[in-house]
Amino acid sequence: MRVPFYNFAKLHHAEFQKEILERFKEIVATNTFVEGKYNTQFEAEFAELQGAKHCLLLANGTDAIEIALQAHDIGHGDKVGVAAISFFASAEAVINRGAEVVFIDVDPKTGLIDPASLKKMLEVHKLKAIIPVHIYGLPAPIEELEKICKPLDIKIIEDGAQSQGGYYTNKKPIGSSNNIVTYSFYPTKNLGAFGDAGAVTAPTQELKDTMMSIRNHGRSPKGHALIGRNSRCDHMQAAVLQLKLRELNQQNEARKEIAKKYLESLAHLPVRLLDKKWADLSSWHLFPIGVESEAVKLKLRNHLTEKGIGSALFYEKSLPQEKPIQHCEGERKNADHFALTTFTIPMNPFLTDEDIALVSKEIENFFKNN
Ligand SMILES: *Cc1c(COP(=O)(O)O)cnc(C)c1O
Repeated sequence: MRVPFYNFAKLHHAEFQKEILERFKEIVATNTFVEGKYNTQFEAEFAELQGAKHCLLLANGTDAIEIALQAHDIGHGDKVGVAAISFFASAEAVINRGAEVVFIDVDPKTGLIDPASLKKMLEVHKLKAIIPVHIYGLPAPIEELEKICKPLDIKIIEDGAQSQGGYYTNKKPIGSSNNIVTYSFYPTKNLGAFGDAGAVTAPTQELKDTMMSIRNHGRSPKGHALIGRNSRCDHMQAAVLQLKLRELNQQNEARKEIAKKYLESLAHLPVRLLDKKWADLSSWHLFPIGVESEAVKLKLRNHLTEKGIGSALFYEKSLPQEKPIQHCEGERKNADHFALTTFTIPMNPFLTDEDIALVSKEIENFFKNN
């Protein structure tokens, strides 16, 4: 690959490897395998980064959504609105809670949940919660959604799996809202473990206590208080995350600079780009571009592959197009078209100016010849 999509070699540089191996030795020496000191340290630091009152480390990002739903007492017989562009887990978590998914359509330019579609769905469905997704790291319109949801007592659970270090507005980090936000630390995310891990941030002590109990078999200070699960986070994963957290801000800044350069160098081409207003807010987990049709998308991707440039389909299908959930109700017209015409080009903090120029040049070359 001339321009790789991810760059784990640079992410896990020699100095980092040295430090993490020291931590692993320490964990083995002290037999502190689950929920150790790095868990506690990370939870405090990550809550601060995201502007949240509380943070709890969990086993993965999908559990985080399920646990947030359970904390809001959502299960059998309840309906939950889910943004129609996301990773499968956003809908899967709802179904694994025994609840029903109602798809909410997205903004055709961004893939973010569309409040107008939510309003329309509320005319036909009684929703107990909604799951907006900060897709690609862009902030979903939480304030607007709150205006709709608050009077109807609809809970908002923000899927922030892609938005570590992202912002709603200039000074307000994702996580500083009045909602539970869920995160994934799958290795490819902006902040990734050496395997699976996830987290929630929570706005109140009560929600934190409930979710803390759920993650550890419903334990409370006086025995088991509820039916929970095991979603504890290994100490080794916490040690990795706590160490990597030091570099996250700097890496996100690098992503922003790369995004700005892409936005500039691709501006004259027939592609749909995100508006510049997102440049300093998004965590730029991914850099999506839209084209006119599925055929163009496939041809352009082939061209990039031939030239040694990584790319990926996030997402190949809208959620309502996925077989196990295609029976779910809701709205999805924009989402279907968005998935069909969108793909993502290399985005990682280690791309050089030469990499960016090469990717842009090859996209330009494609349109010259097609
Ligand atoms: C990665 C991701 C998840 C799932 O997280 P896991 O840690 O893989 O369980 C959920 N939602 C979105 C939007 C994601 O990108």
